[in-house]
Amino acid sequence: MTTIIEQPYAYRRTELVEPDWTRFPGWRHVTREEWESAQWQRSHCVKNTTQLRAVMGDLLDERFYVDLERDQAERATMAMLVPPQMLNTMVPSTSGTVPSRGPAYTEAFYADPVRRYMLPVFSDRRADWPSHPFATRDSLHEHAMWAVEGLTHRYPTKVLAELLPTCPQYCGHCTRMDLVGTSTPQVLKLRLAGKPMDRYEAMLGYLQRTPGVRDVVVSGGDVANMPWKNLEAFLERLLDVESVRDVRLATKALMGLPQHWLQPDVVEGVARVAAKARSRGVSLAVHTHVNTVSSVTPLVARAARTLLDAGVRDVRNQGVLMRGVNDSSAGLLDLCFALQDEAGVTPYYFYMCDMVPFSEHWRLPLRRAQELQHDIMGYLPGFATPRIVCDVPYVGKRWVHQVDTYDTTTGMSFWRKNYRTSIEGDDAEALSREYVYYDPVDTLSEEGQAWWRRNTDVGSAHTAALAGAGASRAASAADLV
Ligand code: SF4
Repeated sequence: MTTIIEQPYAYRRTELVEPDWTRFPGWRHVTREEWESAQWQRSHCVKNTTQLRAVMGDLLDERFYVDLERDQAERATMAMLVPPQMLNTMVPSTSGTVPSRGPAYTEAFYADPVRRYMLPVFSDRRADWPSHPFATRDSLHEHAMWAVEGLTHRYPTKVLAELLPTCPQYCGHCTRMDLVGTSTPQVLKLRLAGKPMDRYEAMLGYLQRTPGVRDVVVSGGDVANMPWKNLEAFLERLLDVESVRDVRLATKALMGLPQHWLQPDVVEGVARVAAKARSRGVSLAVHTHVNTVSSVTPLVARAARTLLDAGVRDVRNQGVLMRGVNDSSAGLLDLCFALQDEAGVTPYYFYMCDMVPFSEHWRLPLRRAQELQHDIMGYLPGFATPRIVCDVPYVGKRWVHQVDTYDTTTGMSFWRKNYRTSIEGDDAEALSREYVYYDPVDTLSEEGQAWWRRNTDVGSAHTAALAGAGASRAASAADLV
């Protein structure tokens, strides 16, 4: 007789389902052919409340639109851009316990995890600490580490190539809010100065003369927004660089707009690039960004498996850990099993949400991230157990248990590193210094919150962060310690 042992998490294989888009009044007559067309998806993205109303009809109460408009005017660091594929995963079922319209539907829409980061509203944000006093626009100092425009050289053997500053979808919490997307009333975006072809040429030139770099993350923005022939031309040249051994293409669109990666010309192009990578012994992978299990639909799984069939060595997920989105061990495990079992996507990382302006309501304290890492261990295969990492300014990714010391009263964690970034060549103390990361203030004890109130002028800190002056403020954090 088999004894069933009760576990904190109960694994159950669940079949993926594409939510029925015709439940939205504005898409009642949209055919499957239209839905599966990348062009249709791109031309029907929701970019403002008028377009959202046209899709939702009378499903949502007026208060939601007012809340959304206020956020766009006073808080949003990213413009609104939601592909139909993503909107269709919000409140995905109208059966069972989910109401079909009215106040209860509006509440369900408010509570939806995808809505919470793709359509943030004013009432989501914290009124007491909307931004951390040391939040900054470019919180990871990627621009300071540009070897040439758009090419961040932070780690010794790898670089990040930001080929373009746009995506097919804009996430409210975007780390690259300084550069990516169109400007919002709160944030005037940085503009790349060089012409695209000149920038790509400069990146390739840097890689050719820097043989210590073996790994290139080709990103943006999202590479799905680059015309395929231009991306393929860049990748062809990149694969000719002798020292390059790993190439990873970064695209959230694999989930947000899987239709893009299913277009025959794109699939054929991926197969050509994958064949060249294989013939050179280079590992070509795709990295995507999925935060909740509801986003893993049959179309997303089909797109991921199509890339693997085209010869990509691996498709990996790098999610972002956020309050109210995926901050439960069951939610993370449900997502990871759906990715691994149903879509062939390897769960790889969950990043703690970065310290950009107005992100406090999404951020979690380090201690909670450590608990979640503990709670998800032992269920997935080891190679598919994601690491929860903190991207520590001036350091880079650290596993959450690698923290050196941690003051849980002030929420300050201290970290060390074992390599120099490209801007620390002559910094004798780079490897012995402690680097600080900060928990969201509202998650601290009353004593900790009082400490922050005594030591910071919250109003001027917000202004400084939005003006892009946060980097120098962060550098002076030691003054407070
Ligand atoms: S897809 Fe990535 S780069 Fe684009 S908005 Fe989202 S987080 Fe930012």
